[in-house]
Amino acid sequence: STVDQLLRLEGVRVTYGGLVAVQGVDLSVGSGECVVVLGPNGAGKTSLMGTIAGTVKPAAGDVYFRGRSLRKRRTEQRVAGGITLVPEGRRLFKDLTVVENLTLARAAGRTTDFRARTDQVLETFPVLRARAGHKARLLSGGEQQMLAIARALLTEPELLILDEPSIGLAPKVVHEVYQRLSAVRSQGITLLIVEQNISALDIASEVHVLRNGRVVASGPPEQFRDADVVAEAYLGTD
Ligand code: ATP
Repeated sequence: STVDQLLRLEGVRVTYGGLVAVQGVDLSVGSGECVVVLGPNGAGKTSLMGTIAGTVKPAAGDVYFRGRSLRKRRTEQRVAGGITLVPEGRRLFKDLTVVENLTLARAAGRTTDFRARTDQVLETFPVLRARAGHKARLLSGGEQQMLAIARALLTEPELLILDEPSIGLAPKVVHEVYQRLSAVRSQGITLLIVEQNISALDIASEVHVLRNGRVVASGPPEQFRDADVVAEAYLGTD
């Protein structure tokens, strides 16, 4: 029902000069759900997530969080309000340690007891506790992704958005990252994940396929497990 809707996008359009990256997307995310937006390179996934995080201004349409328009909210205000994005490429401070990277989240979020929250987050990512004093650049790709997720969790989001968390990771490591994300979801955090990797289907409650800036297919993850269906959704003719 609309009452349970945490996030709603209505007619969101993104343009860069003459290029239309997102062409009128409607999408909603219920509280506690894990919605996955699957799409190939250049489909408009990053642009679409940017309109939610506040880094991209839509040319038309609007984004509502708990029924309120985000139009006038800056990124910092959206984070303070409970929306945090883990960007593509992680954006860690590679010469800072794990702990230092985590501490940087303190100013951004709305966490009152940062130490307790840090302990709680590190329970989900024990590998980070073991690497606490290591510089981020010395971590494996999977550990770096987990650090980026942990840092985002320290802002205490209601809605956590992840832009291609599997990128550059080996299949086994992708599986591990998704297991951790499943644990995050079971803690009551709503997830919105954009991916090219179908491993995301393992934890999805609902899937949308984005192609050429449009949602071309939507449904439960079972509907997309079949490789042929995914290929059709990706490559189907206009
Ligand atoms: P990728 O997986 O490559 O990140 P994506 O699905 O996230 O792809 P976007 O990054 O949103 O897609 O890009 C959608 C389209 O908009 C692409 O054609 C891209 O080249 C273009 N685009 C994205 N950002 C900009 C920008 N800042 N200026 C101009 N064009 C852009």
